[in-house]
Amino acid sequence: MKPRECQARVAARRALTAEIVEVDLTMEDPPQFEFAAGQWISVPLSPKTVRAYTIASTPLEPRHLTLCADVAPGGPGSAWFRGLAPGDRVSFKGPLGGFVYSRGDARRPLFVAEEIGIVPIRSIVTWLYATGFGRPAALAYWARDPGWLVYDEEFRSLARRYPSFAYHPVVAESAATAVDRLTPSVEGLVAYVAGGGETINRVRDALMAKGLDRKAVKWEKFW
Ligand SMILES: Cc1cc2nc3c(=O)[nH]c(=O)nc-3n(C[C@H](O)[C@H](O)[C@H](O)COP(=O)(O)OP(=O)(O)OC[C@H]3O[C@@H](n4cnc5c(N)ncnc54)[C@H](O)[C@@H]3O)c2cc1C
Repeated sequence: MKPRECQARVAARRALTAEIVEVDLTMEDPPQFEFAAGQWISVPLSPKTVRAYTIASTPLEPRHLTLCADVAPGGPGSAWFRGLAPGDRVSFKGPLGGFVYSRGDARRPLFVAEEIGIVPIRSIVTWLYATGFGRPAALAYWARDPGWLVYDEEFRSLARRYPSFAYHPVVAESAATAVDRLTPSVEGLVAYVAGGGETINRVRDALMAKGLDRKAVKWEKFW
């Protein structure tokens, strides 16, 4: 889908934790927003300031988008997101980005998220299982403590419903150490890693040390 200028309105706002806020947007123009799970929108905050927010919901609901942000960084994006209230108008451009899962890919996906980097992976994984994916997939989701594992209960529930989905919340070790431990073999694997640049590099190094091709590690760098 070609990116275009869009208008939406805030329908609801929820604080998932003290620093993580979720908002539901209702599309106005266009009335339906076509995108691929994992894509993001670009929000202009002023003529010189733009921030990216990934769509946490799935393409199955094109009239409503959910966004989810960690507002702890405290810059202009966080201030804007924290202040959103029902009825507010949101202008954005999208859909953007190539951190998307191709269904034709026969490889076994390993998703790795660092904290708020879970947002595109939540959309991809929810969409995959809601549309009959059924094949094995694993998620290693790192956060500094369990309170930062937003959507944890959703992933636990998904893993109960779909035994082919292995969910590994990680707090006691680094994301790269967990990936190393959880991945005895990289044969037939494709990795999707989202979060900070440092973690992306470490996870990629851990997988490449086991023989995975660099190109088999797809990544989305939030910070
Ligand atoms: C493709 C893409 C998709 C994104 N999707 C999301 C999303 O769905 N949800 C979301 O919360 N953010 C997302 N971001 C990050 C977002 O665009 C902003 O960078 C973030 O909200 C911080 O903006 P700010 O203006 O408050 O802080 P800034 O003033 O821009 O940043 C302050 C400092 O914090 C660092 N930083 C930014 N975010 C984090 C973080 N989460 N943890 C630690 N350090 C951080 C920055 O690198 C910088 O050093 C995405 C970024 C990209 C590039």
